[in-house]
Amino acid sequence: MNKHREIAEFNLIKHYFSALTPARRDVQLGIGDDAALLKVPHDRVLAVSIDTLVSGVHFYSDVSPESLGHKALAVNLSDLAAMGAQPAWVTLALTLPEIDEPWVSAFCRGFAKLATDYGVQLVGGDTTLGPLSITVQVHGFVPSGEGLRRSGAQVGDDIYVTGCLGDAALALHHIESGGAVDVLDIAYLKRRLERPEPRVEVGLALRQMATSAIDISDGLLADLTHILQSSGVGACLELEKLPLSRSVADSLRKEDDWTRVVAGGDDYELCFTLPEVDRIQIGELANRLGLPITRIGYIEEKAGLRCFKRDGTLWVPERSGYQHFAS
Ligand code: ADP
Ligand code: MG
Repeated sequence: MNKHREIAEFNLIKHYFSALTPARRDVQLGIGDDAALLKVPHDRVLAVSIDTLVSGVHFYSDVSPESLGHKALAVNLSDLAAMGAQPAWVTLALTLPEIDEPWVSAFCRGFAKLATDYGVQLVGGDTTLGPLSITVQVHGFVPSGEGLRRSGAQVGDDIYVTGCLGDAALALHHIESGGAVDVLDIAYLKRRLERPEPRVEVGLALRQMATSAIDISDGLLADLTHILQSSGVGACLELEKLPLSRSVADSLRKEDDWTRVVAGGDDYELCFTLPEVDRIQIGELANRLGLPITRIGYIEEKAGLRCFKRDGTLWVPERSGYQHFAS
């Protein structure tokens, strides 16, 4: 590409980003200089998290750019949610194979809508040419000492998850296998795969309450195992208690394979642990947010994770979660 044209078009792209999201008062200087200048409240610590989505690995190159804009930010906000952090700022590194304005504009629409919903300001980034890849870094605040960690689960705690599990994995399965599915199901499942809703409000409510928390990106078993290992405990899960959408419940009746539900990945729900005394409070929280929060098992001393079926038999998964670079 002609160097001057490239620079002119890149400036145009940057123009898209400069006023994409509403301004926050704690941003002294946003997009346009060599760095952003940001004010962290004196009584808070900064929670920072970054995630990269690569075309062909994390999404199909023909996915709707608007959905991609949403998801690139949503998966990062999900990490802040799992820390109990209040989202504030975001930076965006975009690598684009070509300068396709309609594509960028649709991507920005999806990104900006979610950022605006959560009061997050885009304060900087980088734009380069190359194979399509999107890196988003989010910054949030949490009162010192109140961040939710993976390491605090206690023997006897209840284990909970938000929302439903396995929808995104079933959506991927349908996309890949191309089998006949009810149109209503496919619309719902696609939305769950492409437009995950970060559980920020749940994370905030769990501060000073949950003993541990994680967001489920690689599948329940893999992510809960992170909690168990960090906390030095084990757990029992009751499969029949896992929260399922109608679509996933129907597919389970046909195939009786729990793998997609517990190891499918891309759920972006929260998994957390709490002492038994907080059961009533969790019920109230679920009612207040209009979101299912389901008790699925308990923490025990014996290391490892055991899943039981309705008839009391142990179920052993073939694989425990989506792993990059796994052989
Ligand atoms: P520099 O060459 O000093 O790194 P750039 O030309 O890369 O600056 O970027 C100019 C300004 O535009 C910077 O403030 C940068 O943060 C912002 N910017 C560039 N790309 C993006 C993007 N994809 N999203 C948000 N801001 C961006
Ligand atoms: Mg730069």
